Amino acid sequence: MNKPKESQKSGQRSGRPIELKFLTSAVDMQGCPADDFPEVAIVGRSNAGKSSLINGLSNSKIAMVSSTPGKTRLLNFYQGRQFRLVDMPGYGFAQRSGGEQRDWQSMIEPFLALRGNLVGLLLVMDVRRDWSVDEENLLRWISPRQLPVAAALTKADKLSRSMMMKRQQMIRKQSGLQFLFPTSALKKQGFVELEEFVFRDWVRRARGGE
Ligand code: GDP
Repeated sequence: MNKPKESQKSGQRSGRPIELKFLTSAVDMQGCPADDFPEVAIVGRSNAGKSSLINGLSNSKIAMVSSTPGKTRLLNFYQGRQFRLVDMPGYGFAQRSGGEQRDWQSMIEPFLALRGNLVGLLLVMDVRRDWSVDEENLLRWISPRQLPVAAALTKADKLSRSMMMKRQQMIRKQSGLQFLFPTSALKKQGFVELEEFVFRDWVRRARGGE
């Protein structure tokens, strides 16, 4: 294994991909790993690009990229040096299927409500989709926890630069979210900025700004 760089040892980001290892999957709270490490929950509609985002952040093929929407129905934990990513099953709240509804009630809602080591929620959205009642409900539901929320706007490569800016402004207005990060798995863009933000604003802050 490569030796950590000085910058990584001291907790500074080097702009390199996060070294992520698949840790475990869980179907409920009991199956989750010990809550002794900062975790970032990743939620998004099926097919929004969650797996591609995790692959992009780690510059690896660690997460499955599925062409079958809703195929992944587990909480998947990916362990990095400084924090974990928790990939949650895809949602489509308004028209949830029976199975999806059960997943949300038995696994996702308790996890988001009770997991003590969550430091932030990353909402993954296809940049071409509008903010919807589903996202609104999710934010409203999670608001009592006062967990920081940011959005990764995926598939930026599908739009021109000017259209991308327009979509970003529109989603910012619709969502009221302050932190939006355009990403492209195809062009491998946006991941360093997103990872630096998550580390600096969420992980380090949760550890008391070390
Ligand atoms: P998930 O269901 O949210 O995990 O979504 P996936 O990561 O499996 O992606 C769904 C589909 O969108 C796949 O066909 C991906 O190849 C495609 N996709 C994901 N991210 C991007 C991106 O940034 N650009 C483009 N062009 N396609 C993407």
